[in-house]
Amino acid sequence: MNKKTVRDIDLRGKRVLMRVDFNVPLKNGVIQDDIRMRAALPTINYVLDQKPKYLVLMSHLGDPKKDAQKAKEKAGKDGKPFDEAKYIEGKHKMKPVVEHLSELLHRPVVLAPAAIGPDAKAIVDSLKEGEVLMLENTRFHKAETSKDAADRESMAKELASYGDVYVNDAFGTAHRPHASTETVARFLPAVAGFLMEKELDYLGKAIENPAKPYVAVLGGAKISGKIDVLQNLVGKVDALLIGGGMMFTFYKAQGMEIGKSLLEEDKIELAKKILVEAKANNVRLLLPVDVLVADKFDNAAATKVVMVNAIPADWAGVDIGPETTRIFAEEIKKAKTVVWNGPMGVFEMSNFAKGTTAIAHAMADATKAGAVTIVGGGDSASAIAQAGLDKQVSHVSTGGGASLEFLEGKVLPGVAALNDKA
Ligand code: AMP
Repeated sequence: MNKKTVRDIDLRGKRVLMRVDFNVPLKNGVIQDDIRMRAALPTINYVLDQKPKYLVLMSHLGDPKKDAQKAKEKAGKDGKPFDEAKYIEGKHKMKPVVEHLSELLHRPVVLAPAAIGPDAKAIVDSLKEGEVLMLENTRFHKAETSKDAADRESMAKELASYGDVYVNDAFGTAHRPHASTETVARFLPAVAGFLMEKELDYLGKAIENPAKPYVAVLGGAKISGKIDVLQNLVGKVDALLIGGGMMFTFYKAQGMEIGKSLLEEDKIELAKKILVEAKANNVRLLLPVDVLVADKFDNAAATKVVMVNAIPADWAGVDIGPETTRIFAEEIKKAKTVVWNGPMGVFEMSNFAKGTTAIAHAMADATKAGAVTIVGGGDSASAIAQAGLDKQVSHVSTGGGASLEFLEGKVLPGVAALNDKA
């Protein structure tokens, strides 16, 4: 990585402004999973050990406007009352995050009532030597995500006024050019934290200089969410294993019947193109040979394993079958570099999670055999944690979208904005 990190800059006596990704799942004000918070602790503790004047932390927490809109529509459909203020209070306010952070750091953490504005400024100005402050959710301010550069700049300038140095450890949000992730870096010396460094290091190794055989496993719902990563990887990997909902569009592209399985009609041509490109690049593109089908989209549905050319008209494919699982696991275990993104089936339902869990185990086995194994965030990260194997792979990314964009070969704006090493 050619970006400066917290190690390259003197923090003693400095006012440090740090962007973290504490976008944790909250249910009625209770944190469901604190992986992202714990992942930022090494940087926070390092910064505090350098004896800065104070540390101001900032993060977004969900997307209040968008989330509330969705929840409101859902409540409307279900004929339930909807209290927007209460919903936002329980899902987007930093109070539980600050309380939990204080426990993790074994020290008090002050909460600011907003990210910018006179009240935020006043509380920042009142900070005493060595104190830690968390700003309220940055996305309560429209300017944070505004398409208008001037709006973002004005918010970024206010944020920059809180610090002498900007540290970005929010890998999970690095693919978004927001005021607190990108614009602010223009107004202060800007360096990466350790989590950012580690993410870029592992993902960088995978795209730049992967040990071969290099295998990518892609799953998840749709091709449309992964077009660019498919196209990028198809030129680089030795084998591409495809499972999840997206496999069915590939079958359709080969003229097969897929029953009631997920289909993206408008991506059939693209699937054909990817199949051709794989062949032209000598990439072995492996599609499942058997699938688990269900007669309903329900964990209690009747299920059976069928060969892919025998999916019954009224059934839907919900997981890869046992023979496919065996073939995929073999491929993974033979690899020296493996990148995995997206579940092999509807893994949220326990009866359709076998294929995904088996991939998690194969990743752990490959790691034991000396491979570099990378889990690309999001659902695959939940799946590997669910299997209790998250410590047995080389790297589990904290950023689903960000790791995908990185693997697509895109420059992440939050990374690009940081200062280069001399
Ligand atoms: P993505 O966000 O694109 O990685 O997709 C993740 C989602 O894909 C999960 O919620 C899975 O339930 C869903 N998924 C995986 N396999 C299938 C399938 N065969 N049919 C429908 N949805 C699937």
